[in-house]
Amino acid sequence: MKKNTRLLRLKFNLFVTILCAATILLGYGFDRVFTANAESLLVTQAKTNDEEGTAEAEPVATKEMVKLQLTATEDSTAASSDSGVDNTDDTASYISVYTEADTASVIVEQVFTGEWAEYIGQADGFIHIKTNAGNEGYILAENGAVQSVSDKSSNISLADAVIVLDPGHGGNDAGAVSTNEQFYEKDLTLATAEVIKTALEEKGATVYLTRSDDTFVSLDDRVQKGIDENTDIFISLHYDSFDTANTMSGYTSYYYYEYEEALAKDVNSGLTSSINALSNIGVRTENFEVIRETPYPSLLLELGYINTYSDLLSITNEEYYDQVASGIVAGLEKYFQG
Ligand SMILES: [Zn+2]
Repeated sequence: MKKNTRLLRLKFNLFVTILCAATILLGYGFDRVFTANAESLLVTQAKTNDEEGTAEAEPVATKEMVKLQLTATEDSTAASSDSGVDNTDDTASYISVYTEADTASVIVEQVFTGEWAEYIGQADGFIHIKTNAGNEGYILAENGAVQSVSDKSSNISLADAVIVLDPGHGGNDAGAVSTNEQFYEKDLTLATAEVIKTALEEKGATVYLTRSDDTFVSLDDRVQKGIDENTDIFISLHYDSFDTANTMSGYTSYYYYEYEEALAKDVNSGLTSSINALSNIGVRTENFEVIRETPYPSLLLELGYINTYSDLLSITNEEYYDQVASGIVAGLEKYFQG
C-alpha cells in the first residue's frame, strides 16, 4: 500500500514535470527553438551556396578605410586641442600627412589620431590616404590600420534603417548636474533615448541603445556598438552645462566629418520644427570622440542646458522628449529621402 502510493506519487510528479516542460516549450520556448533552428538552417544553406558560388543573399557593401592611430614616435610632439567638456579624448594628438611617401616632404595636414580617412593605397612604408578635409597624402604605415567598413547607402527609407542611439554618460559618470544637484545628465539622456527609440520603432526602424540602464559604457564600446550593429546612423545624446549657471540656453547639433553636414542640418531642422520651448543654437562641428571615431554617419546632440533653470524645466519633462523624438524622426525621414 505504501509502495503503491509512493509509485503513484512518483508517476504523478513525472506527469506534472512533463506537463510543465511541454507548457514552457509550447508557450515560451517553442518559437525560439524553432526560430533558432530556422536561422541555423538558413546559415547552413547560405554556407552551402557560398561554397558552390551560388549565394543569392545580398552581400554587405564594404569600403576600405584607414583608422588613423598614432603609434610612430616622431609625431608625438603635437599638442592636444580638445575644447569641449564632453567626450573629449585627453590623449588626442596629431598625425602628419605628407605630400610624398617621405617624412622629409612637406606636411599637407595634421589629422587627429582616431580619425578615419579614405584608403587610396600602399606605398613603401606609407599609406596613401584622402583626409576628411579632402587632402591627399601619405602617412607612416604604422600610424594607420586599413579596415573594411560597411558602405551603406543613405538612399533607403527610415523603415529599413538601423539606428544606434547613445545615451551619454552613465554609472559613475553622471555627466553634467543641475544647479540644485537633483538632476543628472546621465538620467535625462537615457530617458530621452527611450522615447526616441519608441518613436523610431513606430516608423519601422531597427533601434539599438549603447546602454539601456544606469551603467558605465566606455566611449570605445559605444563606437563599437555602431560597428557591431552595422548601423546607418549613430546619434549621441547629451545635455549641456556652462561654467556660469543660467547663462546659456538651447540645443545644438554637432558633426565631425564633412559628409555628415547634410545629416546634421536635416536633424537640426527637424528639431526646430518640433521643439517650442528651447531655442536652436544651430549646427556645429566639434571634436568629440564618439563622432570622430565612428566610421559611419554620426551626430552628437546637446539638447539643452541642465544648469540653466528655464531649460531644466523643459528637459526634465516627458513632453520635451516627445518633441525631440518627433524632430529626429522628421529629420531622418528627410535625410533618407534626400
Ligand atoms: Zn554629456
